[in-house]
Amino acid sequence: RSSLSPLRKINTVINSYALARQREIETLQKNAEFRREFIADISHELKTPIFATQGYIHTLLDGAIDDKQVRMKFLKKAAKSLDSLDHLVQDLLTLNQMESGVIKFSFTEFDLKDLIQEVIEELEHKASKREVTIKLEAEPGKNYTTLADRQKIYRVCQNLIFNAVKYNHNGGEVIVGIKSSKNQIQVDVKDDGQGIPPEDLKRIFERFYRVEKSRSKEKGGTGLGLAIVKHILEGHKSKISVSSTVGKGSIFSFQLPLEKEKKVQEKEPTEAK
Ligand code: ADP
Repeated sequence: RSSLSPLRKINTVINSYALARQREIETLQKNAEFRREFIADISHELKTPIFATQGYIHTLLDGAIDDKQVRMKFLKKAAKSLDSLDHLVQDLLTLNQMESGVIKFSFTEFDLKDLIQEVIEELEHKASKREVTIKLEAEPGKNYTTLADRQKIYRVCQNLIFNAVKYNHNGGEVIVGIKSSKNQIQVDVKDDGQGIPPEDLKRIFERFYRVEKSRSKEKGGTGLGLAIVKHILEGHKSKISVSSTVGKGSIFSFQLPLEKEKKVQEKEPTEAK
């Protein structure tokens, strides 16, 4: 054995300690940078609806209030800006609670097809304004029972189907396909809208990432919907995937576990005494 070996050992220990400290410092620096970026992003996002509301109110105070028609127009615009501010704050709170693990998931058994049907009914009115149709494609008689957090999966389907409507062209079509196989149920939300360029595809799940900033804002988007979808599905040990072709459309897909359908228990006939 070489006499240097204990020294080498000490050296190795010191080196690995230094490396661990270096990594810790890097993590702390990354966290601080993440926080700084997050605050900068939020401030920027909050500014838009706040500035808009301020603008409408100042215009009213500068005299527009005297004309009934103009007054109504500006008040409606101010109310709309405040609604989008409220929407943004709600989404931020949800995302923050999810990222910090505060939000608990509450799992129950339910029919995923019924849930999607409910979401479609809720969004049909908004879709019809742009003559977009939403179709559900499912095999009749199949079991679509899953075990998941119903409220949160509702949110996932709502965000995906609403995006498919929002980023579609007037008169477009959204098809929600639901397939149940041996152990799982697959949901595909397909649109024939504008599609997403390949370089943006991997970034759309990041908070506040938008392909076309102005178009998304004009459609009332917060840029947080897909980040929320991703977190909810991670909480179900599932993930969201997407494939898209510019000018042709996109398909967003996810899977949930398939549970056995609960049969209504038939009562044993009681013997007459
Ligand atoms: P937003 O609130 O802006 O809709 P999301 O997080 O839901 O935010 O989506 C992020 C971005 O991904 C959108 O701004 C949009 O550019 C793009 N996107 C999402 N869904 C679609 C879709 N079905 N077709 C085309 N682009 C989409």
